Amino acid sequence: MANDFLLQVRDLSVCFPSASGDVHAVNSVSFTLAPGEILGIVGESGSGKSTLAGSVMNLTPPPGKVTGGQIMFQGQELKSSLHAIPDGIRMIFQDPMSSLDPYFTIESQMIETLRATDSSTLSRKEALHTCSQMLARVGLDPKTVLKRYSFELSGGQQQRVMIALALLSDPSLLIADEPTTALDVTIQDQILSLIRKLNQETGMAVLFVTHNLGIVADLCHRVMVMYGGEIMESATCDALFDHPLHPYTQGLLKSLPKTEPYVAGTARQKLDSIGGPALDMANLPKGCVFADRCPYSTDRCREEKPALKAVSDQHFYRCHLGTEAEGGASHE
Ligand code: SF4
Repeated sequence: MANDFLLQVRDLSVCFPSASGDVHAVNSVSFTLAPGEILGIVGESGSGKSTLAGSVMNLTPPPGKVTGGQIMFQGQELKSSLHAIPDGIRMIFQDPMSSLDPYFTIESQMIETLRATDSSTLSRKEALHTCSQMLARVGLDPKTVLKRYSFELSGGQQQRVMIALALLSDPSLLIADEPTTALDVTIQDQILSLIRKLNQETGMAVLFVTHNLGIVADLCHRVMVMYGGEIMESATCDALFDHPLHPYTQGLLKSLPKTEPYVAGTARQKLDSIGGPALDMANLPKGCVFADRCPYSTDRCREEKPALKAVSDQHFYRCHLGTEAEGGASHE
């Protein structure tokens, strides 16, 4: 039922005009997100994952524009023509430095953000108390952080401040666009644990954009794999990692490093990669967008665009090949 969803995106398309033609960054993408769910959007650079997330937040950078589709949040349609950031949704980005103002202390920025929300009646003392509580909640010492400028903080501290700023308006949905990519592995782990904890404590849903399937396995309940502006596969994490059906998903999983420790004197592990040319997004092929890189590609694949087909109520993939369960060819 539509009302069970916090977010419902139907047939969304986003296009960027360019000298070599229109770049179709997102093509007829549909998905849903339930309250309290963590959905990962995974894909390589140029797959459309960040553009998709940004368009939910009404942040499609000009001259790009949403050319079709509908976004429903809490049962209300979000209108891109209103140029407003939707209430109840907040976003954090890969580079927190670009979102924090270096001319103002963290205290000024947090109080300004708080007063811009429905808490505008708070006195300065009350606002400061709320900001301190929020910083403590994301694992920062308010006494150390409030009087500082963003450039005086580490990358991990900046990202925590961004999360605290996002939480000030008590969002139902946090969109996180590669928030840990610029951080070292230890800090990355801390930020992921924080997002997981906030999700469990507050029921806040999360749309997590990443190129890292390891993070998806660690954090998300469900995952959508994107390529060429389209969804290639969508499933629960368990189903996707145990039974990947799309050749692109299988290629991504094969390119993950194995976890066994390296033993001195043995051959070093060689990672698989997905070969083939990069997709020209201004000249998308008539058939399957993955055909030039797919080891199973046929004439039919180049002529006919595959539909997204269901193998269960939670597992979908876009490919002409069938699964063994359907009696068609298996990828294995
Ligand atoms: Fe590969 Fe064809 Fe499936 Fe596309 S439709 S992923 S080219 S087998």
